[in-house]
Amino acid sequence: MGAIPLGSIINMLFSYILVGVTVLAIVVFFWFLFPFLERKREEKSLADYCKEHCYLVLTFDDGPCELVTSPLLDLLSRRNVKASFFALGNKITRSKGLVRRLITEGHDLGSHSQNHLNAWKAFPGPVLKDIRTGIMSVKSIGGNESLFRPPYGKMTLLTYLLAKKNGLETCWWTNDPKDSLVNPKGHSDVLTQIQIDRGGILLLHDNDEYPNTDHTQYVLELVKSVIDLAEQENLQILTYSELLSHYKLRLQKLTN
Ligand SMILES: [Zn+2]
Repeated sequence: MGAIPLGSIINMLFSYILVGVTVLAIVVFFWFLFPFLERKREEKSLADYCKEHCYLVLTFDDGPCELVTSPLLDLLSRRNVKASFFALGNKITRSKGLVRRLITEGHDLGSHSQNHLNAWKAFPGPVLKDIRTGIMSVKSIGGNESLFRPPYGKMTLLTYLLAKKNGLETCWWTNDPKDSLVNPKGHSDVLTQIQIDRGGILLLHDNDEYPNTDHTQYVLELVKSVIDLAEQENLQILTYSELLSHYKLRLQKLTN
């Protein structure tokens, strides 16, 4: 039996590599890229809708905590503004009084998972458990278990399908001041963005665990300025659930 020609071996290897790369590309597309593109499509659609109707939604992630959430609720109450809180299940357990106050005062309480696992970095099993447990924590205290904001905004095909199967509303944002970073955006930049967008969905954090020591002050002063701006510019501040109910009604009208 003669030796296999070198050219045939190279061709065979090339075919295997091509098949491998194709399979990998398909997996990456469906696992990561498809949910990411869906998120971008939904964000764009919500941003356009907010712009059209001058709607503004204030959202707060990663809390609640006494240091930020408590004075924030005082401020929102004084200004008669309702907001949406995407809480972590482990924080709900620690701050039940604060969470009950938040719900009683008419704000949205949605889930941001139990322990903030990143769906792109952790294994699928723990991620699914983290999402389910977080939703149960919200439900157990009387929150809105259908509102879900994925930690870091990251979803995989699996978490996307879980959300669809369980009727979860994945709640995105359109304006990110990056208040959880050491150098957040300046208040004037955030306000300008709201003016340009004619509203939108603002992402902030009611968490006291960030490296930015002035975080509480940053959030409270920004929220004050945003409410002032909304009054000046005739922007209507809604909760996320209110935004969704208006938005879905419009979608229904368009499809009928
Ligand atoms: Zn978060």
